Amino acid sequence: MMNIQETSQFDYEHQHKPEPYVGNCYLTPNEHMVHKALLSVSKAMKAYELLDYLRETEGVRAAPTVYRALNALEEKGLVYRLVSTQQFIARSTVAKTGETCLVLICDRCGSVDMIEDPQIISALDANAAQVKFAVRSRKIEFVTTCRDCK
Ligand SMILES: [Zn+2]
Repeated sequence: MMNIQETSQFDYEHQHKPEPYVGNCYLTPNEHMVHKALLSVSKAMKAYELLDYLRETEGVRAAPTVYRALNALEEKGLVYRLVSTQQFIARSTVAKTGETCLVLICDRCGSVDMIEDPQIISALDANAAQVKFAVRSRKIEFVTTCRDCK
């Protein structure tokens, strides 16, 4: 009896949860489309590359629509902008506030991976503090050759 109740409660939530949410984060239809596309390619893309991709797959015409969605998704913590290459990658979950990832980028195929290691981050912050700099934001990127491109 207990199990059946739990199951039907889960089904209720599942059926009534609006599609455009990622976690608790609401996305507009455009943001949802851009996020889904970037997740599905699972590599880093420049804005114009993503626009080309969306033109082919979704018939998107207006570039500002895509650029606005990318900016909004970055603010919401669902897209990460690589400083070194000006490319975007999608996150499947919302970034926590203040969270820092070490990003590995393959400069041959554009594949990307992320490492989360709070110990490395706090060691770097401590080094910065020693030379009297208070860290306010961090972007740490490694240009690499991935296993497939070796
Ligand atoms: Zn590669």
